[in-house]
Amino acid sequence: MDPVLPSGNKMHEKKISSLLAERRVRRCLACGTEDIKPGRRYCSRQCRQKLMWVLSLSKGLLQTLNTRYATFSFTEHCVALDVMPTWSNGISRFVYERKSGYPPANALKELVLEAGKEWYEKRSRRISRSFASQSILQEKVEQSINPNSIMPNTNRIPRLSADQKKALRHLSINMDNLVFGDYVREIRKAYRGMAKVYHPDKGGDGERFKEINRAHELMIQWTRDPKFQSNSALPGCWSYNGYRNRWSPPLWH
Ligand SMILES: [Zn+2]
Repeated sequence: MDPVLPSGNKMHEKKISSLLAERRVRRCLACGTEDIKPGRRYCSRQCRQKLMWVLSLSKGLLQTLNTRYATFSFTEHCVALDVMPTWSNGISRFVYERKSGYPPANALKELVLEAGKEWYEKRSRRISRSFASQSILQEKVEQSINPNSIMPNTNRIPRLSADQKKALRHLSINMDNLVFGDYVREIRKAYRGMAKVYHPDKGGDGERFKEINRAHELMIQWTRDPKFQSNSALPGCWSYNGYRNRWSPPLWH
């Protein structure tokens, strides 16, 4: 049986997962078309640029609404902008219908302009800026949306070269132990443990011991200027981080 796609205003019943996630078909991240070359994330440069332009247009609205995090997703029938403001853990959903053949970027543009117009109407009734923002968001709160679904993954992982990754394996260090802790201590501890087993004086393998020493040296070098990569992307939707005022594309599988 085909999955029933949520349509129109009924779609708040579940978090919109893009068609991309539902069918595991490679689709353009900006418009959803399946007409996409292997290894590409977008059907064309113009398509990507069009969505980028509208996403940057949306930043004005998102900042006005004091947005902490937001996501942008679309189905065949509509686009949705989910907003979590700095002053609440609630999520407000802005939805706009996709007329047939209407790319998500166009629908998002209409959505942003409409929300902006609503905000200005409230302002013209001498409502303060922040109250205008709060009242718009309150009208659109969707209790059914789990706040965690729009918070970016704040896990950070060490940014390591291929040699450094190999070094971790030689020392039997789990990458998770290099995230927030005292990683110099962690590396030395692992090194001492391995040395106990592989030191030639203790009957260990000389070649293996040399490798362990090289691995230790490499990892100590990393700790002098440790670099991390943080993963702010979400699967199936575009994500916005208000602290950085930046949109990230969906996680690519
Ligand atoms: Zn496209």
